[in-house]
Amino acid sequence: MHPSLFNQTPADLADLLEGLGEPSYRGRQILEWLWQKRSTSIDEMSNLPARLRDHLKASFSLRSLTHVRTQGSRDSTRKFLFRLHDECHVECVLIPASPALHGERAHRRTLCVSSQVGCAYGCRFCASGLDGFTRNLTADEIAEQVLLAEELSGEKVHNIVFMGMGEPLANLPQLLKAFELITAPWGLGIGARHLTVSTSGLAPQIRKLADHPQQIRLAVSLHGASDKVRNRIMPVNRKWPLSELFDALHYWTKRKNQKITLEYILIDGVNADLAQAGLLAQHAKSLRAKVNLIPCNPVEGLPWKRPDEPQCRAFRDSLVKNGVSATLRLEKGHDIDAACGQLRLKEEKKGRKDVD
Ligand code: SAH
Ligand code: SF4
Repeated sequence: MHPSLFNQTPADLADLLEGLGEPSYRGRQILEWLWQKRSTSIDEMSNLPARLRDHLKASFSLRSLTHVRTQGSRDSTRKFLFRLHDECHVECVLIPASPALHGERAHRRTLCVSSQVGCAYGCRFCASGLDGFTRNLTADEIAEQVLLAEELSGEKVHNIVFMGMGEPLANLPQLLKAFELITAPWGLGIGARHLTVSTSGLAPQIRKLADHPQQIRLAVSLHGASDKVRNRIMPVNRKWPLSELFDALHYWTKRKNQKITLEYILIDGVNADLAQAGLLAQHAKSLRAKVNLIPCNPVEGLPWKRPDEPQCRAFRDSLVKNGVSATLRLEKGHDIDAACGQLRLKEEKKGRKDVD
């Protein structure tokens, strides 16, 4: 399998063209064919000399993702399933409006992208980690989800959240390269402030991303306000307990002048009591973070249930009473199994059955 031409930055192309004795402006032409004209074949690149096209065809592939299916939901959230060159699957979800995440930009479309196939972190409530970790996505495989979602829907994507399958901060080199493909004027041209990375709490990588010059936003999957509760549902907490996580988050807020979002899924009988709400309020206030509350989605084979609506509201009200900005998110796309990873698991289980 050849590397994808979509993974080439201007610097990569400059090296390549110099080696071939081609003028450097060919790099701009190639990027324009890829990202603006959205070529699906190297043969279309009509202003390149035939010898260069032949070389590109022999050395690079173009698209790495093949569209398998789209699932639509009543509220017009759509989920796209893609097959990769090695028969793995990834998915992304196009969300028409996300007021909880983007306030006044509520009319703008958000795409939730995957960063890995599977996930090594094994949070107890999450479908993505059920089958463990398979591999990291490459930068072009990440950026191509945006390209294809725009092409398939005919709609422009304005915001990107790294909240699909995988732990983006466990794939930092490719994530940073994907930022370049997504934000560059020659690439997708989406501003860094419109990208939100969600992490389960990899403290050292949070510090590394804090040192990265782009103004990327950060969301943290907290889901527990004490080590005892968090250890029960998120094994990652044993490696980086809350004290270390919050040190890294304070470092982030010092380096970047923007609010962190704490994501908190409400699970009945586990983390949805008012004692946790009180501790969560303290954490959020010391960080000046906002809180997104999401009743957990049921996952086949897992025992967790969402609390009833009055309990969810009581949890939210307790935060607000303590002076914390908190939203209770009525899950978009709940009716299409929007909990990350579920569509892909179904596809791969089906595949396995076919083989058996
Ligand atoms: N690995 C990163 C990003 C991907 S998960 C992270 O954990 O932050 C995206 C979000 O979906 C996370 O906040 C995750 O906790 C949440 N999630 C996972 N399983 C869920 C479920 N069953 N119901 C609701 N949210 C879930
Ligand atoms: Fe991985 Fe995030 Fe799911 Fe945890 S919640 S298993 S870190 S994808």
